[in-house]
Amino acid sequence: NSVFDHVVRAPEDPILGVTVAYNKDASPVKLNLGVGAYRTEEGKPLVLNVVRRAEQMLVNNSSRVKEYLPIVGLADFNKLSAKLILGADSPAVQENRVTTVQCLSGTGSLRVGAEFLARHYHQRTIYIPQPTWGNHLKIFGLAGLSVKTYRYFCPSTRGLNFQGLLEDLGSAPSGAIVLLHACAHNPTGVDPTPQQWEQIRQLMRSKALLPFFDSAYQGFASGNLDIDAQPIRMFVADGGECFVAQSYAKNMGLYGERVGALSIVCRSADVASRVESQLKLVIRPMYSNPPIHGASIVAMILKDRNMFQEWTIELKAMADRIISMRQKLFDALRSRGTPGDWSHIIKQIGMFTFTGLNSEQVAFMTKEYHIYMTSDGRISMAGLSSRTVPHLADAIHAAVT
Ligand code: PLP
Repeated sequence: NSVFDHVVRAPEDPILGVTVAYNKDASPVKLNLGVGAYRTEEGKPLVLNVVRRAEQMLVNNSSRVKEYLPIVGLADFNKLSAKLILGADSPAVQENRVTTVQCLSGTGSLRVGAEFLARHYHQRTIYIPQPTWGNHLKIFGLAGLSVKTYRYFCPSTRGLNFQGLLEDLGSAPSGAIVLLHACAHNPTGVDPTPQQWEQIRQLMRSKALLPFFDSAYQGFASGNLDIDAQPIRMFVADGGECFVAQSYAKNMGLYGERVGALSIVCRSADVASRVESQLKLVIRPMYSNPPIHGASIVAMILKDRNMFQEWTIELKAMADRIISMRQKLFDALRSRGTPGDWSHIIKQIGMFTFTGLNSEQVAFMTKEYHIYMTSDGRISMAGLSSRTVPHLADAIHAAVT
């Protein structure tokens, strides 16, 4: 008898569980379009050349030690991360109104921000888009915030439900926190236009809603780091406060190194420094301080002009390959005469296409074609290649006819 005999088996994580099922499938044609990780044309994980180079330099530097980092992480990394997301010439950065702490990738940055808000912010309600990345609900809920949703996606157009979004944020209580995907919304691939962002900003500022940006895909959407950061910079430019969770998982391919940052843009340097002192109290009992290796790689690349340049080229190549997969899949469905309007495949942005396939169609494609994806019909375009597009198109065609 175990003292844990009463413990019931928990369900598999809906996203990571897709990979578990995929790994068990012995079919040679199996295809994993579930998890959001970049793959090459050959279907292999990619370590960027510039990352390899930075790692080599770190390894060769014999004066490097493995001492603990401060609670808030590597100072250079934090400063450079704030500049990367807010812009090198950001007045908020220059006026020292931003506190940035190194966290465990995007997830850890969201969680630290959530814990801080639960302790120090007067309005304990956060609005997240419907649908959103599945972890948001749990991260903010477990931190003690009350989680509500705002309308985001319109199933009939497979685009943005802008009216619904404005209505829901318009009726949110004053001061409520609003989670916004900075770009490449997961899972829908649908982003507001710059004009729509401006309307969202005006509405949110007029109601004193607090923006919390989740930036997991900077550079991955358009291929350009500055363009993808534009919505955040609009909110910072008006002088108001906001939260930003940054991840280097996708844009530097550092998934397992767990490198990210939480920045809180404040009204004054004095507030920012007091906020930082409280962030330390959040972090210390959670994991004490963050790991050194990944942040050192990022800091080296962000600091060195040539390495930074090399990174932007490799990043753009990843974004371009994803965009080309959209066109290839769209063309393949067209040439098969697959019923339906599939133009959303080329309109949507970032790593994912929200296909509109329902859970039965997904189950059919898994059973008959060994194609794995989340049951909401989301496919990772980064997991596709020229070689596998025809197989996917055959499966979609069969699923909808
Ligand atoms: N936020 C969104 C919208 C994501 O899609 C992801 C990853 O899939 C994350 C945050 C966090 O990823 P990580 O913790 O690996 O940086």
